[in-house]
Amino acid sequence: MNLSQRLVNWARVKSPWITLFNSGACNGCDIEVIDALTPRFDIERFGILAQGSPRHADILIVTGPVTAKQASRLKRIYEQMPEPKYVIAMGACGATGGVFRGLYHVVDGVENVIPVDAFVAGCPPRPDEIINGVVACLGLLKEDLAHGGKEWRRKKEPAPPPAPAAKPVEVHA
Ligand code: SF4
Repeated sequence: MNLSQRLVNWARVKSPWITLFNSGACNGCDIEVIDALTPRFDIERFGILAQGSPRHADILIVTGPVTAKQASRLKRIYEQMPEPKYVIAMGACGATGGVFRGLYHVVDGVENVIPVDAFVAGCPPRPDEIINGVVACLGLLKEDLAHGGKEWRRKKEPAPPPAPAAKPVEVHA
């Protein structure tokens, strides 16, 4: 790894940048993210800065269920982020679709569109829980940069259990 790459990695760990995407939220979750940025909770004391562009962000916070219209936009935003990148699904809606689950205009949780690294529970989650989620992603970022990317994590994951054998079909004479 050359010096400039090491410097970039050092800066990403010391000061991860987050960006926010509302994929169909009621705005309750967004307000709590804004609250985490205010002096009361002061997420910047950890060096975490809010960023407008996904191209400069390490962590994407997604609020709300994913509406059918926003799904392709969410995917495009995720693809624009530099590797290794992390996603936090906010609240009950981000995890499963919440109160909107199963409706005609949503594809439910964020994980149905892009990979999710951390779920922050609540409706809406409290700012300190959001900070906890970001710090969890920061831990993943540190590990992944030390291993040269996220690939090692996939190799570490145990293989899925074998599919159960098909039940024999009963034939009645
Ligand atoms: S989890 Fe609750 S606050 Fe957040 S978008 Fe869904 S309904 Fe709104």
